[in-house]
Amino acid sequence: MSSACAICRRAHRDQGDAHRTACDRCEHRIRGWLREIPRQLPLLRASLALDGGPAQGRSAGRAHSPLPLRGDVLNLLGPAAPGTVTDHHGDQSGTLPVLAQVYAWASTIADARGRDLPPFRPGADYTRYIAANLPYACTRPWIVDLFTEIGEVVHTARAITRTEPRRRPKDAPCPSCSAFALVSEDWQPYVECATCGLLLTHDEYAAHHQTVMPPLYRTALRLAVHQATQTTRKDEPA
Ligand SMILES: [Zn+2]
Ligand SMILES: [Zn+2]
Repeated sequence: MSSACAICRRAHRDQGDAHRTACDRCEHRIRGWLREIPRQLPLLRASLALDGGPAQGRSAGRAHSPLPLRGDVLNLLGPAAPGTVTDHHGDQSGTLPVLAQVYAWASTIADARGRDLPPFRPGADYTRYIAANLPYACTRPWIVDLFTEIGEVVHTARAITRTEPRRRPKDAPCPSCSAFALVSEDWQPYVECATCGLLLTHDEYAAHHQTVMPPLYRTALRLAVHQATQTTRKDEPA
């Protein structure tokens, strides 16, 4: 079996993870999305009404009065109808309602494990069910589709609610590949290296920062002093 993650194509961090289809980094990303989805729902509901701005209503100019709600948001907030959306590998076009997408994946997981999905309740979301079964799902080939579809739901919701997470570059270099590419992102429990994919908890990063930054500052200071001395010497009259 390939030892690279089927989603991000990076090598697994642990030898013991070779049986996994998706790496732990991608698992953490999905876990972050699953935590975010219930928080996006009230924001989506709040975005449902049209602002009344000219760019918002596509039906402006029609004879009948336009629906005063955003159709795209209405679609995303649609019901999680059990039994009608399990064929998510078909040619469904457009984004499924958020809860329908979540429900579809929860039932796929339950089917694959030969278990009963906890009974459906209107308005219930199954993000926690998916999260609890994620270690198993990450060993299955369809985790790639789950990643794509749950990610798409989250990105569509963020675009509507204007809640793209902020990415903040960190100043310490990556302890694994030395690149200055460590980034922290809202709602993600890890600082991630954009070059090698290393994940550090915020505590691990803080400890690393404390170890690596003072010598780096001293080196930078020595360089600056050295350059200043060179410049002064060049400027001195012969
Ligand atoms: Zn991965
Ligand atoms: Zn790195």
